[in-house]
Amino acid sequence: MSDYKGFQFKTYDFSKQLDTHIDLIDLLHNTIGADLKKRPENVRWLFEPVQQYLDELAALRENPDKLVYRHFTFAPEIVYAMDCISYVPEALTFMMPTEYLCALVDEGREMDVPDHFCGFLGGVTAPLLTGRLPKPKAILHCNQPCDNSVAWGSVLAESFPDTEMFILDNPYGDDEEGVRFAAEQLREGFNYLERMTGKRLDLDRFREVMAKSAEAYRLMYEINEYKKAIPCPIPTSSILRPISVAFYALTGTEGLVGWLEKHLADTKERYEKGTGGWREEKMRVVWNLSWPIFDYGVYDWMEETFGAIAVAYHSAEPFYQPPDIDYGKASYEELLRALALRNNNHAMGRQGRGHFMTFVNDTLKWCREFSADGAIFAGHWQCQANWAAAQITKEKLMEELGIPMLIMTVDQLDPRVVSAEQMVSRLEPFLEMLAEKKGIKP
Ligand code: SF4
Repeated sequence: MSDYKGFQFKTYDFSKQLDTHIDLIDLLHNTIGADLKKRPENVRWLFEPVQQYLDELAALRENPDKLVYRHFTFAPEIVYAMDCISYVPEALTFMMPTEYLCALVDEGREMDVPDHFCGFLGGVTAPLLTGRLPKPKAILHCNQPCDNSVAWGSVLAESFPDTEMFILDNPYGDDEEGVRFAAEQLREGFNYLERMTGKRLDLDRFREVMAKSAEAYRLMYEINEYKKAIPCPIPTSSILRPISVAFYALTGTEGLVGWLEKHLADTKERYEKGTGGWREEKMRVVWNLSWPIFDYGVYDWMEETFGAIAVAYHSAEPFYQPPDIDYGKASYEELLRALALRNNNHAMGRQGRGHFMTFVNDTLKWCREFSADGAIFAGHWQCQANWAAAQITKEKLMEELGIPMLIMTVDQLDPRVVSAEQMVSRLEPFLEMLAEKKGIKP
């Protein structure tokens, strides 16, 4: 472990050459999966979404004809409605142990992948270009949220020249015209999946998936209402990874609904007892844009040293408001419209397309609703689109809510760019300032 003023952060062993030519699904099962199984029974349920997605990936071995590549901001409901399995290469990097991620990023750089190419995609570029990832039956791609993602489409096309791709042209605006525009394309998307997989869309299955998706969002909004309480009853940083996996990969599944019901029951119990997360809450912050995932010790440090509880993580929060329709009887048109709304409001996608004031206004919304004392713009260094909104977001937060925002560069995945110790050395004076402003002693 490495040390910052007595606080221990993770250390990494980059001294060995790792074999990157291994099955990445096996790697996740043998590392993250094995680790989850070792967790104490009473907290294991917290990580169910991660386990659910690992199980889905494992199921690909027996069902290669169901394999659909899906961009991480393309709503998974379309894949579940077709009874297929969604394979998101970016999700592998999101969950992968740091040493492997770095080795794979380096392998890509040796193949001339530029260092301004996002590590989420760059971490799986070498396996993709060298034919180490499974061959898809179909590929669902889209043009949001960033230039890296658009470039990723070319990598996919070059890697699977015999597999036609479907690319959703996400609309610029969020008005009804934008919803109709997306719905019409999703109709074509279903036609495409039928053609590529040889399966027929079952309308009842589509109804069921959209009903479960709507239920998942209803539960999440209810949980978020409790998050507004002081102290925040949820140890938010501990469930950040499962929440992200849940809403980027599992909407439309029964497993997610079941997990959210447990999550809500736990939240209510904590709320009624007046208990917060793991540590005493003295101030509240919102992480906008990205947040480090290679060492969750950063959040522990903030909580232990300053009582600074992160109440919202911009790119992991829900935005889709499911339409109030009878999903059991809904027509195909109504379901397509709901799916279009879901897609247009996909977290991260929503703020990475169209006018950049969406990013600014979404930040204002989370900070206002969750009574934040400050915001942290942890800018993933390759996320150029949202970096453009950093300064105006900072000014708007001060102007409208009177709260400051720290702007700092991070690489969400790679500690060699900015280490946890470097991050907290930037966070420390900012949190000291918030503590002074609130008149509290860290
Ligand atoms: S939005 Fe940012 S983090 Fe996401 S793929 Fe693009 S560059 Fe990477």
